[in-house]
Amino acid sequence: MTSRSTDVFHAAQKRIPGGVNSPVRAFRNVGAEPFFVDRAQGAKVWDIEGKEYIDYVGSWGPAILGHAPKVVVDAVCEAATRGLSFGIPNPLEVEIAELICDWMPSIEKVRMVNSGTEATMSCIRLARGFTGRDKIIKFDGCYHGHVDALLVKSGSGALTHGRPDSAGVPQAFVGLTISLPFNNVDLVRKAFRENKNEIAAVIIEPIPANAGLYFPRDDFLPVLREECTKHGALLIFDEVMTGFRVARGGAQEIYRITPDLTALGKIIGGGLPVGAFGGRAEIMDQLSPDGPVYQAGTLSGNPLAMAAGLAQLRELERIDGWKLLEKLGAQFEELARDAIAQAKSDITFHRIGSMLCLFFARGPIVDLVSAQRSDLKMFAKFFRGCLKQGIYFAPSQFETGFISTAHTSEDFERTGAIMREALAEL
Ligand SMILES: *Cc1c(COP(=O)(O)O)cnc(C)c1O
Repeated sequence: MTSRSTDVFHAAQKRIPGGVNSPVRAFRNVGAEPFFVDRAQGAKVWDIEGKEYIDYVGSWGPAILGHAPKVVVDAVCEAATRGLSFGIPNPLEVEIAELICDWMPSIEKVRMVNSGTEATMSCIRLARGFTGRDKIIKFDGCYHGHVDALLVKSGSGALTHGRPDSAGVPQAFVGLTISLPFNNVDLVRKAFRENKNEIAAVIIEPIPANAGLYFPRDDFLPVLREECTKHGALLIFDEVMTGFRVARGGAQEIYRITPDLTALGKIIGGGLPVGAFGGRAEIMDQLSPDGPVYQAGTLSGNPLAMAAGLAQLRELERIDGWKLLEKLGAQFEELARDAIAQAKSDITFHRIGSMLCLFFARGPIVDLVSAQRSDLKMFAKFFRGCLKQGIYFAPSQFETGFISTAHTSEDFERTGAIMREALAEL
């Protein structure tokens, strides 16, 4: 029996590499084929055959209010009637810059870009320009987009597609990137000692969410802050995923750490392609046209994207979205833990607010090595069992699940029951 999604996927594979525009969408590592979506609303998506799914991917993070929230759609429609792109400054850019600086006090100045990748890439260039140094420290399993210098022991799709690093990245670039295990302060101190006056920046996902989801130990982020300050390196928080999701002020608010630069994306575009990076004014002023570090973008600050982002962020604040998401997250957790308790296999459940992950492994999971103990075959079976019954979790063990403000108790009840069935069949 062939389905319409299968037909479209065959056509896609002829004209799009792997049939997809981003690798994880191909469902390769769960032994399934992607479904093609027709539309999405709230917590649900419908495929082109009309099958309904409860969605825990949320476009990989942006859909924090659920899909197609009316306030955001209205804002985009209204903006569109006044022009789709100007390439001339418009007031919405100033409004979103002010909002970002207000919500994340470590950011004194911010520049908008078109993706998270652009944001982290620009942070790295800026850090190098500001410090006059070349080397970067990152952490195994952290994903910072597909930037050459950062595709070393990277998370997300890069983890499950057979190569820890990417072909096409010159050895010379890799040589400037030091990748260390997450949560290991001794190795951070050692790297700084052995590369005296050479480290431009440390870049980190303060809550790693691209190799599953795990958390920093109490001393880890403070030590990074301390070492960076001591050695004149910049601390870059990649909050493309956590920014405005785990709290109004992101992970830096929760852990009370002030990074020098922050990369943002996903949620701030309200579903449109947006990224941003910002930090101390003294550093940001090194950017062109004020300073010597070049950075630009034809569509940066696009009026539709700014309108969407502003509408989404303001709505989140209006409804106190973070409180609601914590409440919904706790509801989900209770049902998930119930289902997991019935399972025969070892499963470790992690959650912070509306972000969650089931590792098919025993805890504790604190870094890439422990995350990689997960039983991927078991995960794939669980994924397919849920998908068949209309529950869409991310198609990889090494991704994070998202709850939106549009999810309901009924969604969770249904999800819990189906998880229980899927786990029983393992
Ligand atoms: C998604 C993500 C990126 C890359 O963003 P894109 O918009 O996909 O380029 C970078 N860093 C983190 C932490 C991410 O989750």
